[in-house]
Amino acid sequence: MTVIKSHCPYCALQCGMALQHEHEATTVAGDEAFPVNEGALCIKGWTAGALLSHPDRLTTPLVRGARGRLVPSTWEEALDRAARGIRGTQERSGREAVGVLGSGSLTNEKAYLLGKFARVALRTPSIDYNGRFCMSSAAAAATRAFGIDRGLPFPVADIARAEAILLVGANPAETMPPLMRYFQQQREAGGFLAVADPRRTATAETATLHLSLSPGSDAALAYGLLHVLVRDHLVDVDYVRARTEGFEAVRAEAAAHWPGSVERVTGVPQAAIAETAHRLARARSAMVLTARGPEQQSTGVANALAYVNVALALGLPGRADSGFGTLTGQGNGQGGREHGQKTDQLPGYRRIDDPAARAHLARVWDVAEDAIPVAGSSAYEMLDRLGEHGGVRTLLVFGTNPAVSAPRAFHVQERLSRLETLVVADFFLSETAALADVVLPAAQWAEEDGTTTTIEGRVVRRRRAALPPPGVRTDVDILCGLADALGEGRRFRFAGAAEVFEELREATRGGVADYAGITWDRIDREGGVFWPCPSADHPGTPRLFGDGFPTPSGRARFHAVRPAASAETPDAAFPLHLTTGRLLAHYQSGTQTRRVADLVGQAPEAIVEVHPLLARRHGLSEGDRVRLATRRGWAEFRVRLALGLRPDTVFVPFHWGGLGSANRLTNPALDPVSRMPEFKVCAARLERAAPVPVEV
Ligand code: SF4
Repeated sequence: MTVIKSHCPYCALQCGMALQHEHEATTVAGDEAFPVNEGALCIKGWTAGALLSHPDRLTTPLVRGARGRLVPSTWEEALDRAARGIRGTQERSGREAVGVLGSGSLTNEKAYLLGKFARVALRTPSIDYNGRFCMSSAAAAATRAFGIDRGLPFPVADIARAEAILLVGANPAETMPPLMRYFQQQREAGGFLAVADPRRTATAETATLHLSLSPGSDAALAYGLLHVLVRDHLVDVDYVRARTEGFEAVRAEAAAHWPGSVERVTGVPQAAIAETAHRLARARSAMVLTARGPEQQSTGVANALAYVNVALALGLPGRADSGFGTLTGQGNGQGGREHGQKTDQLPGYRRIDDPAARAHLARVWDVAEDAIPVAGSSAYEMLDRLGEHGGVRTLLVFGTNPAVSAPRAFHVQERLSRLETLVVADFFLSETAALADVVLPAAQWAEEDGTTTTIEGRVVRRRRAALPPPGVRTDVDILCGLADALGEGRRFRFAGAAEVFEELREATRGGVADYAGITWDRIDREGGVFWPCPSADHPGTPRLFGDGFPTPSGRARFHAVRPAASAETPDAAFPLHLTTGRLLAHYQSGTQTRRVADLVGQAPEAIVEVHPLLARRHGLSEGDRVRLATRRGWAEFRVRLALGLRPDTVFVPFHWGGLGSANRLTNPALDPVSRMPEFKVCAARLERAAPVPVEV
């Protein structure tokens, strides 16, 4: 049997896989030659082959019939129905009334093509993607501070050599277990690891120090650290002078954050704050790493910038085995935010309001510059107004499931049901696809070629190991077919993803995320290429910032952000913090992982983690059913007692829909800069669940 090297369909670590396909089944092994995971996979990766032959696979297009039910159709009928819906809406309500929602799970080629489809075939500004719910705060902070947004500006292997690390709001032991090898090596070499998280997670268990901060107090903790650095003369003054700007205003703000007051706000003892600051400052190499904990908040950009301030004060970005980074979540969360799915962005991480960027893309796409739309609304703002006058009335969804993954999900479901036409391309009938008027069955990860860009900024190849089932098309084919059905096929004549990538190279040439020097052949030869890579003879860029920052001054920028309260804080009616996150066995909205028996066996149903003291106050025991209510509504969960959680906080994973949906509860308050919803903190109360009726 031929072994095909590819990469995992799930998270941004993009573990290397060796795939073999025989007798309708695909077996998965870890690729020992891929340096990131060296053969290791987590249980999601090991079991990913089950997705390909799953009996729930969609293998024929579906259209909503006269009786309101989804019924099988031909591709011609389905594409025609979608095209008629698009045309009708645009004729009645304008081009912007057709919207597109993409995904950080799409390959670079698909993300690029989806952005082009929206701007060229639909000529709508109404496109955004689910990375708005994931990476937008980190991206905005990095762009402001460093002039470039590459989640990790160094390879993950550097983690093992850092003498001290502060990890904020990340739980890689569950979300990307093979990454833990680097933290383990770091600890075995005598390194210091502090983990800031309201939960004592599996990652926090491995740390030297667990900083159990109160949800929403992330920026306050960063300023507590900065205060100690300034007070104890631990700031890298030479670095700050030579390589940064804006420190004085940050120093003035930090002066107000005495460790005693920070302890009262965060719950983290002063001694732990001081020890963390000193250990980071004394280390020859150190890192500050953040993830969704501080970022998925209505203050997410300010929170991320507060930790950038800590890293800059320590002189870390650009130093060997050191730096500031953010752990990207979705499979192509990095590449997915570079190539034009974001409403304010054109390929190559160009701004859509930059005249030079518009002129460049107009040449590549062979359109008039003024035919390229301007920016539209962010993902939640688009979803919030679906079906309204002035809002999107026909929506195309590729690779995402907003009926489960959007905040205030019940409201979003109601909005989805108001659309004139909802078109969803997916490989399973997700909760969103079940509401659609047209469902287009799409090929999966191991059935098509393409590239993704990993957590490190390394562009790698996904390779086809099996043919899609008969009746299933790739997203590239679907988009080109839709463009044809709309009479716009001339600019969408791609024989496959390889041709799309060639156009992407030109589209990104000269941009911040420059892929012009990357080819599929080169990726094959070199095992991946790090962007930026502007020319064929450029070696790629594994490490950034060694000799400057891509800002106008060449310096990194401090930002004197002010810690602010969450949009919603506990009160008498809703006395608890609710925070949300992921479990080891599941991924995102669970469309895939809730269908894999081994994963369901590990985590069969929605749970809420409750501290035993809190459980006792409510008369709850392990395994009880309980109702959790917020100002958005209520949902029901099985109680899991968790000693490592703060007694004022409950934790719910967001992998389920229906009554166990965490996002029925979450707050759609948005960060003013990134438009990131506040998934990570809101006010909640525990209630007894209604007893399940017993049949007699
Ligand atoms: Fe896949 Fe991420 Fe698990 Fe690796 S860590 S096997 S990329 S889900």
